[in-house]
Amino acid sequence: MNVIFLGPPGAGKGTQAQRICDALNIPQISTGDILRRAMKEETPTGLKAKQYVEAGKLVPDEVIIDIVRERLAMDDCQNGYILDGFPRTVPQAEALDTIAKIDVVVDLDVADEVLINRLSGRRVCLACGATYHVDHLNGETKCAKCGETLIQRKDDSAETVLNRLNVYHEQTAPLVDYYQKKGNLKVIDGAQDMDTIFESILTVVKG
Ligand code: ADP
Ligand code: ZN
Repeated sequence: MNVIFLGPPGAGKGTQAQRICDALNIPQISTGDILRRAMKEETPTGLKAKQYVEAGKLVPDEVIIDIVRERLAMDDCQNGYILDGFPRTVPQAEALDTIAKIDVVVDLDVADEVLINRLSGRRVCLACGATYHVDHLNGETKCAKCGETLIQRKDDSAETVLNRLNVYHEQTAPLVDYYQKKGNLKVIDGAQDMDTIFESILTVVKG
């Protein structure tokens, strides 16, 4: 089962992708996580990506397409995966069409006002990709899953958040139409509670 998670930044793609992947025992391929790890380790890709990611801009298509192509060729992807954060532009989607056959595209739909609040209060674990909201952390500074110190992403600062939402509306939202036309798009209301969203996604992914 090859699945894409679409949706604006802060829609909950990462959290839900992690839960669905655990339930189905398939890997979660988060291009954002891959880039953040590469930046932390200062690999050539990480150094190239840093200026874009921190400004809330998209990394050039050819960079990200190569990363995904390599990742999808690995053994653990042969029984399915969830792509979380890729594709994000029409050229990325067209490239993906030549690499993989996608079964379902899940679009998590959330209004901009909600997203701004979620993103500006978000804390993340760079080690395992888990995300939290300050409102629920009660002052806790470590990841409940792996114990690593939580950080606020540079691109979750107020002005960069607005930039990312603009980028989403201009470059990524057209993919909703792209997959609608192909007939494999499932829209889920991302403003519902997390367990309801999880069950809805599981149902559409299992078909
Ligand atoms: P969010 O969905 O919360 O914006 P991600 O972790 O998916 O966060 O992405 C963070 C940043 O990484 C993006 O703003 C962008 O700079 C870069 N990035 C991730 N995926 C892609 C992609 N498919 N194409 C280009 N840039 C990407
Ligand atoms: Zn962690």
